[in-house]
Amino acid sequence: MLVLGIESSCDETGVALYDTERGLIADQLHSQMAMHAEYGGVVPELASRDHIRRVTPLTRACLAEAGKTLQDIDAIAYTEGPGLGGALLVGASFANALAVGLNIPVISVHHLEGHLLSPLLADPRPAFPFLALLVSGGHTQIMAVRGVGDYQILGETLDDAAGEAFDKTAKLLGLPYPGGPLLSKLAEEGDPTRFTLPRPMLHSDNLDMSFSGLKTAVLMLKKQVEAECGSVDEQARKDICRAFQEAIVEVLVSKCVKALKQHGLQRIVVAGGVGANKQLRAALDAAAAKRRFGVFYPPLKLCTDNGAMIAFAGAMRLQYARTAGSFTVKPRWDLSTLPKA
Ligand code: ATP
Ligand code: MG
Ligand code: FE
Repeated sequence: MLVLGIESSCDETGVALYDTERGLIADQLHSQMAMHAEYGGVVPELASRDHIRRVTPLTRACLAEAGKTLQDIDAIAYTEGPGLGGALLVGASFANALAVGLNIPVISVHHLEGHLLSPLLADPRPAFPFLALLVSGGHTQIMAVRGVGDYQILGETLDDAAGEAFDKTAKLLGLPYPGGPLLSKLAEEGDPTRFTLPRPMLHSDNLDMSFSGLKTAVLMLKKQVEAECGSVDEQARKDICRAFQEAIVEVLVSKCVKALKQHGLQRIVVAGGVGANKQLRAALDAAAAKRRFGVFYPPLKLCTDNGAMIAFAGAMRLQYARTAGSFTVKPRWDLSTLPKA
């Protein structure tokens, strides 16, 4: 079965083809990052218009990449939400129109389910049940995943998402948009011993997290360095980046280890853009070796938004937990309300 996946929830247009026999056979992506950089963040109206411009050429490119035609497609999956309303509507309209034209089923996919299942596109593939650490630009959640559609939220951020904290802290340190990946690059050259920032909620007796205070702590640290040294030079900035990353990574890893123990799970799956962070991966790998649990990541380029994860989640839903497509979008959508497999 061949499933076409369409992602358009934010600032990436992604189109991919997933074959249930052969795996991912084509994956096309256009990021609008450069377009929004000038405004320091995503401009929703510009995002919608750009999705309109990109979705058809990307679909053609995807078919060409796989050596397939429209008639070979068996079903179309698209992101129904959560995300930007106008941006979601582009993917929803395109997918529904194409599915009607081809007389094939359309499947609406929850964007976070896409992220969550994306590690299953890697080799080796984690078996259910597993703990999922979803760390993206808009969400930070720890979940128990027992099957497709069986998602129990165990803990989540009470304020900023991890990716959001990376981006906002980067902005505060004068880094250009989108700052998260750049901040983590600078952190690699920073001294982990020079500054120490607080580990918010590290010892709280639940699995919730909070990252907005960390941003304020960085602001205070920056002011302190400015007062003491006159300005924040390149090395000081790298050292602050490192201190921030150390704090966020320690909290994430510690919460995951606690969740594994509490829920008797043996493996953890990381998904979402912050899952690309090298230090987070190294810290999780080290904890996994020490405590003997398995850790699984999506392929690096599938950490951030893409069509592949939507095609894959759509294929899983078609096979195991069918949800009817509907011509709607849900800019806000709680993952735990999905029907179980
Ligand atoms: P959501 O999926 O919650 O709607 P999103 O789609 O915007 O949000 P993703 O595409 O999964 O989020 O991830 C983007 C986020 O990942 C950004 O906040 C970005 O800064 C962050 N990110 C990407 N690479 C890295 C990295 N190497 N280190 C830290 N953060 C990173
Ligand atoms: Mg994005
Ligand atoms: Fe995302």
